[in-house]
Amino acid sequence: MNLYEYEGVALFQKYGIPVPRGGLASSPDEARKIAERLNPPYVVKAQVLIGGRGKAGGVRFAETPEEVENVAEEVLGIVIRGVRVDKILVVEKIKIMRELYLSFVLNRSEKTVDFLASPLGGVDIEDIAREYPMSLVRQHIDPLLGIQEFMVRRAFKRLNLSGELYRNFRELVFSLYRLFVEYDCELAEINPLALTREGRLVAVDSKIIVDDNSLFRHPDLLEIKKRRIENMDEVERKAEEFGLSYVKLDGNIGIMGNGAGLTMATMDLVSFYGGKPANFLDIGGGATRERVEKALSLLLMDPRVKVVLVNILGGITRCDEVALGVVSAMEKYGTKPIVVRIMGTREEEGRRILEASGVHALDSMEEAAKIAVEISRR
Ligand code: GDP
Ligand code: MN
Repeated sequence: MNLYEYEGVALFQKYGIPVPRGGLASSPDEARKIAERLNPPYVVKAQVLIGGRGKAGGVRFAETPEEVENVAEEVLGIVIRGVRVDKILVVEKIKIMRELYLSFVLNRSEKTVDFLASPLGGVDIEDIAREYPMSLVRQHIDPLLGIQEFMVRRAFKRLNLSGELYRNFRELVFSLYRLFVEYDCELAEINPLALTREGRLVAVDSKIIVDDNSLFRHPDLLEIKKRRIENMDEVERKAEEFGLSYVKLDGNIGIMGNGAGLTMATMDLVSFYGGKPANFLDIGGGATRERVEKALSLLLMDPRVKVVLVNILGGITRCDEVALGVVSAMEKYGTKPIVVRIMGTREEEGRRILEASGVHALDSMEEAAKIAVEISRR
């Protein structure tokens, strides 16, 4: 689960990591009131889970509480890559001398926590890594040993900070590492970590991703998760309830596959033939007919979906189970065309079941994608 900046900031505060003073608002009026309690100038920041907010007009400066109100009016309601802004963070503007980059990130292939630092913060880490790879220090932390003092020294050296800042830096790094471990994070990033004109280190932005599987042991995160679910639309909420991996997109072709890779490949093919996927939906391995039926019902009840493309490569998943699920979904919710491609375990049985209900199952996924795109254009 991705945390919003304000949620990440709350965790930073809990761990004693310095952040700008501020507050959360959902109306221009609230924003002004928050500004009145703070010292000018201010920054108004759209709370969205998408990176590159700054460039999209989601980070704005203001001199007075009145200006904060006006800027808030503009920012609330802008749409950043399809997501409407409904909350903003109003903070005291920091006098930044330098912007640094600092993060801990889970490295699955090395089975380590990687500690990344660069003196070139403010820009995306991908850009730093591509354009200034030499600036970035990446150190692998053995999770059993934890972060070591020498690693902090090495990062500190690369950041070119003056010696008297070492104790503060060390404190901040250890705190962030503790947060990362205790909250079961996949990523804990401060970008930028600001060096202020007064010579302080302040976390100006937060990006935290926690492992969904760990939520049960973090009551505060469970609370956040509950709030997220309340704000979802009906299809997303149902998918959550059914334990299906579903991501809403903005096209009109419903996609269902087994396995994230195959499902994404299916979406790629649809795009390749000029169609637009309405979603990503992975039923996982070994899905039963009930699960298939539930998954399909989500797509069939979505008013944006014109046609559904089912792409199944049977391994653990049995094609006959899938076929039974497809048939019963069609009987219960079926008003839309469904294009099916099945292949693999119990393929013949699956085909027979589908044929008996008047569905011709294809065996080429290219063919299936092409037909689905054609139907979506009618
Ligand atoms: P992002 O675009 O989503 O990464 O949003 P950030 O919070 O990282 O802000 C983007 C950029 O705006 C930063 O890299 C800074 O250059 C600038 N910025 C944000 N907050 C402040 C602030 O308090 N003071 C100053 N001087 N610049 C800021
Ligand atoms: Mn940032």
